[in-house]
Amino acid sequence: MTEQTFIACHECDLLQHLKSPPPGGSARCPRCGAVLHRSKRDSLNRTLALSLAGLILFAVANAFPFLAFEMQGQVTQTRLFTGVSDLYQQGMWGLAALVLLTTIIVPAVQLTLMLYILVPLKFGRAPQHLAGVLRLLHNLTPWGMMEVFMLGILVSVVKLAGMATIVPGLALWAFGLLIFVLAAAAAALDPHLIWEKVRYAS
Ligand SMILES: [Zn+2]
Repeated sequence: MTEQTFIACHECDLLQHLKSPPPGGSARCPRCGAVLHRSKRDSLNRTLALSLAGLILFAVANAFPFLAFEMQGQVTQTRLFTGVSDLYQQGMWGLAALVLLTTIIVPAVQLTLMLYILVPLKFGRAPQHLAGVLRLLHNLTPWGMMEVFMLGILVSVVKLAGMATIVPGLALWAFGLLIFVLAAAAAALDPHLIWEKVRYAS
């Protein structure tokens, strides 16, 4: 596919024809040298595989115990959702809503939207309302703050380590992996390629 499209350089605004570079290659602006488009190797399959892996990790992270504390013979088990419900019960509903949004809802919607785009394309069909879905996906990304949450967990685990025995649960590992898988899926996604596929889809 060497389809030509018109594109304005985002650095110097030079209007030019953009030819699709070969897989793994990139197209640069002839005037200022800015990278206009980088063609990612096997973007569709890789993003799809990473999104599916992310979906499984997300399910595991929500279904299994996150952390267990053992203090004076008493074991307390928590799940990912426990933090949200505890905050809510303590009257901090704003914080509860923010944690729910940034650690559960946004990753779930991100994964769903990616699969909504990629699964039909894999079978040669064009997904409906693609522009809106891509825009939503782009706007949602800054709201996923799983790594911030993970950092908070690590800090509290270190603080609590002296007082109680802490047993990391399966969900904690899945959640940690999910952070990397989601980041890799977002990096592998190539909107140029998606539009190109849509043009040739039925
Ligand atoms: Zn330029």
